Amino acid sequence: MNPIEFKRHRRLRTHPTVRAMVRETSIKAADFIYPLFVTEGENIRNPIASMPGVDQFSIDLLLKETDEVVDLGISSIILFGIPSGKDAVGSGAYDDEGIIQRATRAVKERHPNLVVVADTCLCEYTDHGHCGVIHGMDVDNDASLELLAKTAVSQAKAGADIIAPSNMMDGFVAVIRQALDEAGFQHIPIMSYAVKYASAYYGPFRDAAQSTPQFGDRKTYQMDPANRMEAMREAESDILEGADFLIVKPALSYLDIIRDVKNHVLLPVVAYNVSGEYAMVKAAAQNGWVDEKKIVLETLTSMKRAGADIIMTYHAKDAARWLEEN
Ligand SMILES: [Zn+2]
Repeated sequence: MNPIEFKRHRRLRTHPTVRAMVRETSIKAADFIYPLFVTEGENIRNPIASMPGVDQFSIDLLLKETDEVVDLGISSIILFGIPSGKDAVGSGAYDDEGIIQRATRAVKERHPNLVVVADTCLCEYTDHGHCGVIHGMDVDNDASLELLAKTAVSQAKAGADIIAPSNMMDGFVAVIRQALDEAGFQHIPIMSYAVKYASAYYGPFRDAAQSTPQFGDRKTYQMDPANRMEAMREAESDILEGADFLIVKPALSYLDIIRDVKNHVLLPVVAYNVSGEYAMVKAAAQNGWVDEKKIVLETLTSMKRAGADIIMTYHAKDAARWLEEN
């Protein structure tokens, strides 16, 4: 009988050091952007039930939290605000004394080298919970753009290092770029939520940020999860309008989209590992059904392997700690 020919792939897996030498993807604390929720008041730390380990902080305790973040080697945070009051036009978003503006100033004063990303949207500040101004039963695209531009300029004035518009209005990057430039913030980059799907994975975030829409849904502005080509159109238009980074959101069910975007663009790609993805891992880990550390590090590695250069993740602190141990 003739010998059967086959390849011995296991040769490269025999020794742990050789495995490390041929490892194609790695993650590090500096890859992460850590999302933080800021609320009014003092000495407040409200746990978010659906996101164990994630809390809303008043500014004084937020500063202590950023000390820990910096010590862990995480170089960037993204801030989400829970204002004391809301109205139809989300005026808290572009108030120079708003919660995000005050939090940004305080964080930058304490940690000048910690990169603060400002989420630029209206949904946390509108009483109807939508990401723009309402006309009839839908969000008015062009009327919302003007308010977004005001929000971005106000955040940059407060010291935000990166503006991250997330409301999925057409033209938001162009309008914000122009407004930032006119206000003297030509040097501030835009990290666009270019490819953002109308996803069920955002559920826990809406508890955390208290931003659930009071009627309808966001399907007239966020993308249909079934669409792939459309992601390329969204990415292309944001590049033409002046985006400096492109975000794909969510991440785990959209690894194919992350790879598509990575293959098509010459900008850094950011994956947003969203609240529902976090909550599922936490729930399974609390039940002892999965090994949390291994699952989290594998998940984050898969996002980088798919093409993400940067990952926004609620696991950032734990992952940074585990990477340090390893
Ligand atoms: Zn929004």
